[in-house]
Amino acid sequence: SIPVLAIDGPTASGKGTVAARVAEVLGWNLLDSGSIYRMLALSAIKRNVAFDDEAQLVKLADALDASFDHGRIVLDGEDVSIVVRREETGNAASKLAALPAVRLALLARQRAYRQSPGLVADGRDMASVVFPDAFLKIFMTASAEARAERRYKQLIDKGLSANIDSLVLELRERDLRDSSRPVAPLKQGPDSVLLDTTAMGIEEAVQFVLDHAHA
Ligand code: C5P
Repeated sequence: SIPVLAIDGPTASGKGTVAARVAEVLGWNLLDSGSIYRMLALSAIKRNVAFDDEAQLVKLADALDASFDHGRIVLDGEDVSIVVRREETGNAASKLAALPAVRLALLARQRAYRQSPGLVADGRDMASVVFPDAFLKIFMTASAEARAERRYKQLIDKGLSANIDSLVLELRERDLRDSSRPVAPLKQGPDSVLLDTTAMGIEEAVQFVLDHAHA
């Protein structure tokens, strides 16, 4: 079957960047599953659907017109690449991602990215739920302070405003919500390799993943 390399971990651990680079080097497809949850959140905001309205969110998820086009993130035909990265979008995504029926509604959509010659999948439950047969499972993390600093730089680079202290608090709050939900909680699985990037640059992390992929 088509090989999948799963990279899971908390927000701003660097997994998005590492997953994209690894996919590029291998010439494989990339699934940024967080962006799918984020796009569902944007879709809900646009249509005034509450983040706890499970039935309506499932309908939105089934009808979600979302795509990735050469690195651009497109929702309902509109380029949402910038707004999708905002912290408030991530926080909203984390709220609806806690609903089991919403996760189920997005499952087939995520699995459809498994196409030849291979897939690098980035998320929270790539190894545990979406691609349990992945040939390599990486759990990527870093301290909350290191992650807040990275997120700060990302936001500033995008011309968005940011505050480092509130970022640390928000990351902690989001980690807690993501790891304490009953369905697909964020945690390192028994068959995942731990990659702590607190004191590691992107290149080193990419090399770590490639070394394990080739082993
Ligand atoms: O990774 P990212 O910060 O873009 O994800 C946004 C939110 O979407 C996460 O905080 C998490 O709650 C949710 N998510 C998820 N499962 C995934 C990817 C993201 O629950 N596979």
